[in-house]
Amino acid sequence: MVQEQVSYSAVLMGSPILLKLFVDDQALAAQVFRLIKHQENLLTVNRAQSEVMAVNHAAGQQAVSVCAPVFQLIKQAKAVSQLNGCFNFTIGPIVKRWKIGFQGNSVPPAAELQRLLTLTDPADVQLDEQAQTVFLRKAGMEIDLGAIAKGYIADVVRDFLRQQGVTRALINLGGNVQTLGAPDEAGQGWAIGLQQPFAGPDALIGVIHVSSKSVVTSGVYERYFELNGRRYHHILDPATGYPLDNELLSVTVICDHSIDGDIFTTLLYGMGVRQGLAYLGQNPQIEAIFVTKDRQVICSSRRQFSFQLLHQDYRLNAVTDSTA
Ligand code: ADP
Ligand code: MG
Repeated sequence: MVQEQVSYSAVLMGSPILLKLFVDDQALAAQVFRLIKHQENLLTVNRAQSEVMAVNHAAGQQAVSVCAPVFQLIKQAKAVSQLNGCFNFTIGPIVKRWKIGFQGNSVPPAAELQRLLTLTDPADVQLDEQAQTVFLRKAGMEIDLGAIAKGYIADVVRDFLRQQGVTRALINLGGNVQTLGAPDEAGQGWAIGLQQPFAGPDALIGVIHVSSKSVVTSGVYERYFELNGRRYHHILDPATGYPLDNELLSVTVICDHSIDGDIFTTLLYGMGVRQGLAYLGQNPQIEAIFVTKDRQVICSSRRQFSFQLLHQDYRLNAVTDSTA
């Protein structure tokens, strides 16, 4: 018997959330949405109060104790921020100044960005493992988990569903997808659309198929504003304070854990296609699809996913192991 997929949706974290199950279980869906809300309440920086905001409010003053999972997440975000890539979770003051995707956005004066950059050294985040406290050494510092939180929460939802005995499910947190199993044994797995940049959520470049994998996309078209013919998007270069500008329109990462997917979309975005593919060649547990401004779709080895191109204006550029 073919079982029907049942979809549940909500708007949380400012994003559309979609849950797919194979049972009609309103109570389970409600538990999942409550779980997401609870995590959002701990991690958000888009409201005055959260555990993370308590840390930010106390910058330059005192250490703040946080719950164990938040401490671990901050610890991981700090470690990734010290890799010398483009991921830096102390970029908060600059994110707040640009307000990209929020009301009142504007291009900050260069001198102001320079000043704010002095508040973005991840080494200034002091962690006390024993006391489970976080201290931001300089007044004005702000941590921002926006580039890692959705991935983390997607994994929390996956783990919860597994505990509940669910073997097949999909959770989509505003473009951050995590899957359990596959919809049916004979098929290709879950079908996840690769969005066409600047064309609305239903316009697809192609379809990605996975089973028991996470698929995370970060694109310049997700949040941006335009001024005097220039486009300013929400992934910032921690070295300059300006939006990252290279040949890319989006990066999609396919891997086991959504938290890694979320981290690596930002890291690979910063690396660009050449350096990114070289990195992926050495790290087969992470896979990616790059979409470039000149309409190329470049896939890594495709051991963990398959990709079907649908849009005629895009060219598929598969990478063999030897070129990666
Ligand atoms: P989204 O799924 O919303 O596109 P991303 O995972 O791409 O999110 O992360 C973008 C968010 O991360 C930004 O909105 C901002 O809050 C924060 N951010 C921006 N630039 C960086 C950066 N270089 N390193 C870490 N976080 C960043
Ligand atoms: Mg991310």
